[in-house]
Amino acid sequence: MSPRARLVVLAACLVTGGLAILRAGPPAPRSADAPLHEFSAMRVHERLVSLLGDGSPHPVGSAANAAVRGRLVEQLRALGLSPEELPAFSCSATGSCAPVVNVLVRIPGTVPGPALLLASHFDSVPGGPGAADDGHGVGVVLESLRALLADGPPRTPLMAVFTDGEEAGLLGAHAFVKHPAFAEVGAVINIEARGTGGAARMFETSDGNAALISAYAAGAPRPSAQSLSYEVYRRLPNDTDLTVFKRAGAQGLGFAFIGDVRRYHTPLDDLAHLDLGSVQQQGDAVLGTARALLAAGVQAPAGNATYVDLLSLFVLRWPAALDLPLAGLALLTLLIAAWRTARRSSARTVSSEYVRSWPRAIAAAAGSTLLAALAGALASYVMLAAAGALTRPIGTWPAGLMLSLAAGATAASALAVLALRAVARRVGSRALALGTWIVWALLAGVLAVMLPGASILLIAPAVVAGLGLVLAGESTRGQTLACAAAGALAWCLWVPLLPALTEALGLNALVLGLLAGWTWTAASPALADAAGETHARRLAIALAIAALALGVAAAIAPRVTTELPAKLVFFELHDTATGETRHVLDTLIDIDGLPPEFMADPWRADTPLPWSGRTMYVSPPFDGEGGGPTYTQHTTTAQGGLHRITGTLKARPGALSMIVVMQADTVASLAVGGQMLEVANLQRGPDGARVLRLHGPPAEGIEIEAEVAGDAPWVLADMIPGLSDASTKLLTQRPFDRVPYQTGDARIGLRSIRP
Ligand SMILES: [Zn+2]
Repeated sequence: MSPRARLVVLAACLVTGGLAILRAGPPAPRSADAPLHEFSAMRVHERLVSLLGDGSPHPVGSAANAAVRGRLVEQLRALGLSPEELPAFSCSATGSCAPVVNVLVRIPGTVPGPALLLASHFDSVPGGPGAADDGHGVGVVLESLRALLADGPPRTPLMAVFTDGEEAGLLGAHAFVKHPAFAEVGAVINIEARGTGGAARMFETSDGNAALISAYAAGAPRPSAQSLSYEVYRRLPNDTDLTVFKRAGAQGLGFAFIGDVRRYHTPLDDLAHLDLGSVQQQGDAVLGTARALLAAGVQAPAGNATYVDLLSLFVLRWPAALDLPLAGLALLTLLIAAWRTARRSSARTVSSEYVRSWPRAIAAAAGSTLLAALAGALASYVMLAAAGALTRPIGTWPAGLMLSLAAGATAASALAVLALRAVARRVGSRALALGTWIVWALLAGVLAVMLPGASILLIAPAVVAGLGLVLAGESTRGQTLACAAAGALAWCLWVPLLPALTEALGLNALVLGLLAGWTWTAASPALADAAGETHARRLAIALAIAALALGVAAAIAPRVTTELPAKLVFFELHDTATGETRHVLDTLIDIDGLPPEFMADPWRADTPLPWSGRTMYVSPPFDGEGGGPTYTQHTTTAQGGLHRITGTLKARPGALSMIVVMQADTVASLAVGGQMLEVANLQRGPDGARVLRLHGPPAEGIEIEAEVAGDAPWVLADMIPGLSDASTKLLTQRPFDRVPYQTGDARIGLRSIRP
């Protein structure tokens, strides 16, 4: 390839990579006076201002939860709908229970058939107001319902459920799948958030998703989705309401944005931090997909799609059954091109003094892909480790996440370019292109079998390269075009993976560098400097200089800030057995930057919560508030070696949850509020303990029935949000970049009983 041809290939890759970064974020929110058939994030904002009221956390069972539900019902009535409130006592298999009240609306279709269900949850964690998680989801469904009603009566039946108790263990969803209305549901669109901004992605789907993906592709004006994310998500322990709906037989699509995850489940998940651009992208996608599904009807699931969005412009997709044939097509065309090249050129020498046979040249080129990926991983790892060593470790979720990502990826690029150039200048562009794309095609075939959703990222560019190179024949211009087109497609698919995977899984220097190095292989024909040329070397030097500057910036950037803080929870822990109250400080592992007085005498490290094995810091006793949960035994009858007991568990007034810790092998059967629970499935605590959680415990208490062996004690705890006046001084010592998380600060009372 001439220097100019190489520049064309390089420019094609860099420009599409840059475009991919620019297009990776959300759009601007649409104003409140946008046309009524459109989705407007500003209208959602107005709804949330009234829905969330004073911004109190509204966990299941709280008065604030009932108030939010009341305002939700009002907003639905104002849309002309007739919301139903569905109370139920719901338990998850892992032993989390609560009285929940789901809100359901049903809009009949003009043609009977399975319904489309829009789902979001209206409860929040106790530790934050849940404006994004999942207030925005409620707002998106309300605004979508408004726009859909403006279209006239839907062809397909439409439902919306606003679940309660999602944060307590998907309890509203567990209750709703038992409700008769769920039998009418064909497909679900579920809306979630983890964090307060970032691209709104369609990240989760179900088996047989081809029709759903078609609807999404047709309906989402700025799509952000790839079948890879479903493969990744399936392997993570995270669940959403959609998981429950899917297990109960529905198909579905899951939408979420996951940026600025440090605000997730904290007081900073508030309206002020909610990115309305993310809401706009989410809402556009939900409304568009719902419109497409309502028009086409909900089809029975049939066949999976493999899909990926291109620059958020459209969704490239095909039936998953075509993955292997397409990978085969790519390989076949590339082998034909390689064979032709070898045959026509065998008489001539290869444009290199080192490699004199085409098969060897192509093999060396193929090896360069591995070399580049490893060089990238090494450089990224060294860069981020060095930046951490210079100041302090960067960690998985630094406040400057994207800065650290840029430093690692640029360092990876520098070394990968250098490694690729070393091979490229020996074997030349043509061999490099063939060798590289043959590896892509082979790996595509492997992934098509092992990780099907991911294969499209390799198949699409490899097919373009194979067809392009075969069609180009001996035309150098044609070869340049084929390399530029395949490289550009590869970069527009792979570059957005770096921020997307980092957002989803946290900063991982090795993975980041590996992906960056691999992405450069698609541009490798551009790096074949001829003898005496230094273009590619100068590119590597420029990248290295940029990486150094970014590395220094990443080293000195703060790891946490007031806007992206770390977590610190204070408890007042009262033990009714000793009568003592102590402060407990839960850092959730991240102890960096804590005032040392909390971690030294007279405080001590311990595991004070009987249901958690986590090390926390415990103060000496102070003069605090007493009290705790109570248990009243009603009956006990001996039965074989077992005691059959019934009793009432009661929390203190104001408590939002109760916890019961028991030993698995001492409880043969267990029923709570009339619901049987499998003791072996209960959440595990330390030392073989099983943990039962009761959220929103009713004032009159909750009935429990069990068959117990021996007289092993149970530990009861109740948790009241907020701290007493005795902790005012302590709260002023919370560092400015630490916020409560999840449960929030709380008073805990412990009582040991023998049932
Ligand atoms: Zn949520």
